[in-house]
Amino acid sequence: MSTGKTLNLTQNLHEYLLSVSLREPEVLLQLRQDTAHHPRANMQVAPEQGQFLAFLVKLIGAKKTLEVGVFTGYSSLSVALALPPDGKIIACDVSEEFTSVARRYWEKAGVADKIDLRLAPGIETLEYLLAQCHAETFDFAFIDADKENYYAYYELALKLVRPSGLIAIDNVLWSGRLIQPEIQDPATLAIREFNSKLAQDDRIDLSLIAIADGLTLVRKRN
Ligand code: CA
Repeated sequence: MSTGKTLNLTQNLHEYLLSVSLREPEVLLQLRQDTAHHPRANMQVAPEQGQFLAFLVKLIGAKKTLEVGVFTGYSSLSVALALPPDGKIIACDVSEEFTSVARRYWEKAGVADKIDLRLAPGIETLEYLLAQCHAETFDFAFIDADKENYYAYYELALKLVRPSGLIAIDNVLWSGRLIQPEIQDPATLAIREFNSKLAQDDRIDLSLIAIADGLTLVRKRN
């Protein structure tokens, strides 16, 4: 019986969901397996989430996109494969080590020319893009980096996307730590504040999707 609340996925039901809906290209599967042994493998987006981002990019006909937080490249590769041949991603990260894996897979998938990697703190890159007249030119942005800077990334991304453009922000349910008041570490505090601010933000429409660790979708109002 429906309670009006999102179904709590058991492992079996999650496996079923994947079995009837996941269409993961071979190169993404290889990247996921390659990253599974990485000490920070939990930073990789879930495969159904990669597919969802690709779906959104196709749905809105995105051409120019932004990513803040690349890690080993699963989300950027998902998006790049969904973009048209003249599509572009400006991808921001600070780790030469993690993004070297990403670069290898972008090459392997034949999409390296669509991805412009900027190795610098994300805020610097986004401010630079604004200064270079990229305001309101992006169709889509994905934010999945250090949580303490989430709100700053969001404010800059909101300036960079066009009216009706889409911003997706990852980890907004933060494994449920948000509703445990005794948890007060900087990342948890930052996500709590981020979610509260977005709830009140009348510049946007939003929807929080209970996929993986929670994904907020923001549409910039005209
Ligand atoms: Ca994430």
